[in-house]
Amino acid sequence: MRFLYTRAQENQILQDMPYEEQIHKAASWIEEADMILIGAGAGLSAAGGLRFDAQKLKDHFGDFIEKYGGRYMTDMYSAGFYPFETEEEYWGLWSRHSYINRILPPALAIYEQLYDLVKDRDYFVITTNADGQFAKAGFPKDKIFATQGDYGFIHCVAACHNKTYDARELLEELKDEVVDCRIPSHLVPKCPVCGGPMEMNLRNDPDFVEDEAWHRAEHLRRPILIQRDGSETILYDVATALSAGRIIAGEIGEETAHIIIPGALVTQTLLDVVQMSPHYKNIEWLIGDATKIFLEHKGWLYFMRIGIKIRVRHAIKLMAITVNPYAPAGYFYDSDVFREAIAGRLKDIPVIDVMGRSAL
Ligand SMILES: [Zn+2]
Repeated sequence: MRFLYTRAQENQILQDMPYEEQIHKAASWIEEADMILIGAGAGLSAAGGLRFDAQKLKDHFGDFIEKYGGRYMTDMYSAGFYPFETEEEYWGLWSRHSYINRILPPALAIYEQLYDLVKDRDYFVITTNADGQFAKAGFPKDKIFATQGDYGFIHCVAACHNKTYDARELLEELKDEVVDCRIPSHLVPKCPVCGGPMEMNLRNDPDFVEDEAWHRAEHLRRPILIQRDGSETILYDVATALSAGRIIAGEIGEETAHIIIPGALVTQTLLDVVQMSPHYKNIEWLIGDATKIFLEHKGWLYFMRIGIKIRVRHAIKLMAITVNPYAPAGYFYDSDVFREAIAGRLKDIPVIDVMGRSAL
């Protein structure tokens, strides 16, 4: 694999080759390549003229902006994250949104040009774009991996079965039924299997913003704040979250949605933030996995009670618990009694005495 750009540093890409030269180089590499992997993000659709900006939202969603205020209703992209309380409102927004940016637009010229370039070659597309543009331009389905979904499709919220449904006709009809930002209740789509609610086939929780931010945070070993509009603040001054509560608290604002902590989360950090920032309740802490949480049981209960939200990025699959009945001070418990006392509190998790006969 070859790259034109030398290396990415923070949010800048250092380029040591003039733009024109890069284009020629890219063209010759495309000609020579055995295989072409196309990685496309929002920039490609934007370059093709598909807009997600504030003006487009104003042009088409004035009623939503008026009703729901400015917090999410800042641009087409952010509007999709509004935490609607009812399905009627959710489909009110999404039927129109999908119609305007997914269903209505024809294949953009830039996608068609790209298809012409590669159609006789061995290629594959991986894209975060959910606007269906690759398919519209002629790319076959089995050559496209749309990592964030496709907002012409819907699926069961509970994922009770693994199927997405083409909802383009439905959404187009629903958009004409929107009154006061909602569709009539009897038109709300329901899962054909479990009867529960459906949702757009999108990773429309803020996860995908987090995905990229998480990798950046891990790489830089610095906490990152993610604001509700998707923008982020990297806390370069924080080498470790161990004593960083005050700095973090100072950076948190009303608009902060997440704090990504690539290292350990300790009691003092949370205490500092709770004591210094009135916004702590609106924030979700995102950490690597449960082994990075260093809170005493008492502390954990306290933080949960006052509304602290903590989420792990990777769940731990607990396979077994090991115990050792020997204390460093020399005394010990009966192996079987000790092991069984702990096993009695745990369901379906083997408890292994590392010193005892039952050890593997
Ligand atoms: Zn279902």
